[in-house]
Amino acid sequence: MYDVAVIGAGPAGTSAAITAAGYGASVLLLEKGKFPRQRVCGEFVSAESLALLTSLLSATSGLLERAPRLHCARVFVDGSMLEMPLEAPAASIPRIELDAALWNSAKAGGVDGREGHSVLTVEGPAPFAIRTADQNHFLARSLIDASGRWSNLNSRPNENTAGSAGKWIGVKAHFRESAPASSVDLYFFAGGYCGVQPVACGGETRINVCAMIRSAVGKSLQETFPQHPALYKRSQGWHIATEMAATSPLIFYQPEPFTNGVLRAGDAAGFVDPFIGDGISLALRGGVMAAQSLRSFFHGRSSLQQAGEMYEATYRRDLMHVFQTSSMIRRLLGLPAPIRTGIVRLLAGFPALTGYMVRHTR
Ligand SMILES: Cc1cc2nc3c(=O)[nH]c(=O)nc-3n(C[C@H](O)[C@H](O)[C@H](O)COP(=O)(O)OP(=O)(O)OC[C@H]3O[C@@H](n4cnc5c(N)ncnc54)[C@H](O)[C@@H]3O)c2cc1C
Repeated sequence: MYDVAVIGAGPAGTSAAITAAGYGASVLLLEKGKFPRQRVCGEFVSAESLALLTSLLSATSGLLERAPRLHCARVFVDGSMLEMPLEAPAASIPRIELDAALWNSAKAGGVDGREGHSVLTVEGPAPFAIRTADQNHFLARSLIDASGRWSNLNSRPNENTAGSAGKWIGVKAHFRESAPASSVDLYFFAGGYCGVQPVACGGETRINVCAMIRSAVGKSLQETFPQHPALYKRSQGWHIATEMAATSPLIFYQPEPFTNGVLRAGDAAGFVDPFIGDGISLALRGGVMAAQSLRSFFHGRSSLQQAGEMYEATYRRDLMHVFQTSSMIRRLLGLPAPIRTGIVRLLAGFPALTGYMVRHTR
């Protein structure tokens, strides 16, 4: 009988597991994949979670030291370019290295981590009975679902009414570019956007190119590039360095951090629009917050229900505004082009206003 079982070893699951083990809890961490593994992601890690990340990673990982710092975001939309200095620089960290380093840190911290264990069913209420695809059974007094935005454990009804042509797809690959810019560059076009930033991976500096596109636009980066003239021109000098990875569906829900006695962290609680570059940070902070809320339960000072309610209240107080601001910006970007262009020009003329908006996505 474990004190807590954590399902999914992305940033949310590993941060929850490391924190819970630090409180002396017995922790089971189940991951269906095997490390190292790719994730479709812009690999932009925002500044507000870098100190937390440092405390979670083992001192020898060297990951943060190697990571290029991003001091500025450039947004290319409707022929205009909006340049936004990042008050505190973000880091660019390849997910293939970040997730593996967090996994190693969890194992080193005493977590019973098991790769290649896909959870099939969870039966509650507590204690939870967990069954994996290879017929292993586990029992845990509490459960954190960190299995991502679209798993067999938390898939919700498809609220995407746009039909299959309107379905969102995420695609990503690393490329080589001579003299990559040190900014994160976002190219917006009808039916999606594409982010480009430098990343240190495999002993060299590459660029990570990651797009979120409607399926009507295409299913690959090659179909994405012609959607924006400046992106297309820039892409002509690139050489592919990794295979392209893709993921779908990408569906935005109102966050649900605590349901049926289960604490949900990261994308399993709520998926935030990737263009704000805060999903990893939300996952790290949410995972830690879930484990912190369970601390009194581990030590017999509160019930699981009380711990879950405390988590939900803290989540709503500290993280909910990010979802609200990002959906407001998404609505702005979806406005007809002339209005959108006017807004972009207005923002370009008032950097303080842009800074205010960026701060509210953090
Ligand atoms: C196109 C795109 C671009 C993005 N760009 C950025 C960016 O630049 N910056 C940023 O901060 N965020 C970005 N994000 C968001 C970010 O990737 C996520 O918010 C983040 O990965 C969430 O972490 P997580 O731990 O909640 O979930 P995940 O990283 O998805 O991890 C979930 C884990 O659970 C495992 N799992 C699933 N089901 C089971 C099961 N049944 N049993 C066992 N294990 C299971 C999976 O294998 C996976 O390892 C982007 C997302 C997309 C789609």
